[in-house]
Amino acid sequence: PGAFLSVRDLRVQFSTEDGIVKAVDGLSFDVERGKTLGIVGESGSGKSVTNLTILGLHSKKTTTIDGEINLDGQELLSASEKEMEKLRGNKVAMIFQDPLTALSPYYTVGRQLSEPFMKHTGASKKEAKGRAIEMLTKVGIPQPQTRFNDYPHQFSGGMRQRAMIAMALMCDPDLLIADEPTTALDVTVQAQILDLLKDLQQEFGSAIIFITHDLGVISHMADDLLVMYAGRAVERGSVREVIKEPQHPYTWGLLSSMPHLGGDVNEALMPIPGSPPSLLTPPAGCRFHPRCGFTDTVGGSLCSTERPLLADGRAAACHLTAEQKQTIFIDQIKPR
Ligand code: SF4
Ligand code: MG
Repeated sequence: PGAFLSVRDLRVQFSTEDGIVKAVDGLSFDVERGKTLGIVGESGSGKSVTNLTILGLHSKKTTTIDGEINLDGQELLSASEKEMEKLRGNKVAMIFQDPLTALSPYYTVGRQLSEPFMKHTGASKKEAKGRAIEMLTKVGIPQPQTRFNDYPHQFSGGMRQRAMIAMALMCDPDLLIADEPTTALDVTVQAQILDLLKDLQQEFGSAIIFITHDLGVISHMADDLLVMYAGRAVERGSVREVIKEPQHPYTWGLLSSMPHLGGDVNEALMPIPGSPPSLLTPPAGCRFHPRCGFTDTVGGSLCSTERPLLADGRAAACHLTAEQKQTIFIDQIKPR
């Protein structure tokens, strides 16, 4: 049997006025039940697009999708809109950066928690209210009985984020997709929300995809890590492996720009010059090659002509040999 969620060779392209954006280009990964996969990358790396595609929330008119997305035995790319609707909020739920994406200002929080639950499960109003109050309690909202009748604007930012998590948990989802869920919050509240998500995962056993640009946030949350660059996965491994012994030049740069990771990587050494490429005309070969300092080590024109593939398991998509990666890491990247 395959993984709980298995994504294979996913390609997502949008047509725009300027041309075709190759937003995701041949992406594969697995997520197991009860585990957290962190997907990290800059904006435009394809991480959010990937997850909207899993949820079937992309625009059908302008998007072309290839590949396979299999969730618990169900193939999602061929599922009907009706099947996807049933899946969302039931089997899969999403937590966004901005709670107001999910919560309407016009209805009470309680109503917004109860109604989808009634629709998905056929529960009575009373049962739904009971469940909503239970979930508001679980996410640490004080006086849930009273707060049930409040509108989202009566909640603080952190409390709104908790309410959205409560909403996501209403139907006991097997997969939770969290897209930069704490980015807008101050550091203390951020830490509280991350702890809360961890505790809830223990209790509910859901799989989580946690999307972020911040490796520091993910290092405490995830089991496995996928590093994305310009629509492709460039490195994969357990969090520990990727953070302690990163193998890809892009990950080296990413880690060195995050001093709060606490000296795992020699900070000042590897800043990434330039900016991510346009996905209208992505670079040939390795998409990172215009910004990479190691193309000469590879030699010839390999980096600019041949796409480096990402092997299964612990791997980095780079033409450097395993020995070269190891030597560069020990000599130049690892702090002493
Ligand atoms: Fe750099 Fe070449 Fe490796 Fe790409 S394949 S990361 S350009 S060394
Ligand atoms: Mg995003």
